Amino acid sequence: MIFKEPALNIKDKLVEFRRDFHSHPEPSFCEERTSAVIRKFLEDNGIEIQEVGAGYSVVGVIRGGKPGKTFAMRADIDALPMPELNDVPYKSQNEGVMHACGHDAHTAALMGVALLINEVKDQMSGNVKLLFQAAEEKIPGGAKELVEKGALENPYVDAVMGFHVANALPVGYVAFGAGPGAAACDTYKFRIIGKGGHGAYPHATIDPVVISAYFITALQSIVSRNVEPVQGAVITIGSIHGGTKENIIADDVEMLATIRSLDEDVRALLHKRIQEICKGTEAMYGCKVEWELEMGYPVLVNDGDFINKYAVPSCAKIVGEDHIVEVKKSGMGGEDFAYFLQQRPGCFGSLGSGNAEKGLVQGGHTSLFDLDEDCLWRGAACLAQTAWDYLEENK
Ligand SMILES: [Zn+2]
Ligand SMILES: [Zn+2]
Repeated sequence: MIFKEPALNIKDKLVEFRRDFHSHPEPSFCEERTSAVIRKFLEDNGIEIQEVGAGYSVVGVIRGGKPGKTFAMRADIDALPMPELNDVPYKSQNEGVMHACGHDAHTAALMGVALLINEVKDQMSGNVKLLFQAAEEKIPGGAKELVEKGALENPYVDAVMGFHVANALPVGYVAFGAGPGAAACDTYKFRIIGKGGHGAYPHATIDPVVISAYFITALQSIVSRNVEPVQGAVITIGSIHGGTKENIIADDVEMLATIRSLDEDVRALLHKRIQEICKGTEAMYGCKVEWELEMGYPVLVNDGDFINKYAVPSCAKIVGEDHIVEVKKSGMGGEDFAYFLQQRPGCFGSLGSGNAEKGLVQGGHTSLFDLDEDCLWRGAACLAQTAWDYLEENK
């Protein structure tokens, strides 16, 4: 079974699906319409819905005519709280909300998988599960809940796969990398509490602005002096607020930081050192340092064996061997697909969606993001092909 031709035949339908989602974007945890459209689509095509009760996420199950394993694929369905500046017929109709991360394309491609697999299910050995996942963009995310509510059970999922569109990769290409593929992303809120007073009499105060300067510098030494140089880690203080006027020493300073790593041991080290520096700062400067930690998504770890054995050979049947790129190092972005890969073997690949000739090169999370819709049928075909080949190989 080769899904290239069948996918090309539904190319226009997938563009329609994507444009409908694109013009009706909904932010994380608010995907009411999107969820309803997916449900109706599955029902109209006679595809079973597994009611897991995980918010606006929708799980479809296609059971094959012959027994076998179960292969799951995931599309995230949420959009971002930002305005769209593209002048296109399918421009966002929801003010201040935009599909700027391409999840509309993921959803359309997975609907394509549903159509492709449903057509040949009688000959299929085993089952396919379609995870339309809400709320990827906002912690705690929708993936964790899907896992907790049993979306990977009944039938038991044996392997899982997903794609993210990437404009840095030309349309027609797909990319995979073994090992870490996205970073653990945690957030700190720090509050340095000193003692305010007159700017002319600093000796009578505990100046949280000066302490913040030392504190930030100390934090920066964690990545440079504590983390092994070949490991990836990021400590970024993205926000700092304190004080009102040049001659008033503030009572406190607040900071927000994102902490990223590609290894769970490094992650633990970062937190240990950060919290030690909080304590040390108190001792050194006589202030109080409060911190709140929000743990984000874990490190996403791709299964190299799965990539070599299944993803690459199957996707090569669709895009050609010379259009498969090996990713050698991970970025520091976060992705809650990590939760699925903590549970089951599989991979999260990049689906080329860029096209310099058409001017489609903007990165995600920007108001001018758009993608080459020729990635839709390719994404659907690559997923369907990998699912099919996996089930054939393991029947
Ligand atoms: Zn995003
Ligand atoms: Zn995304």
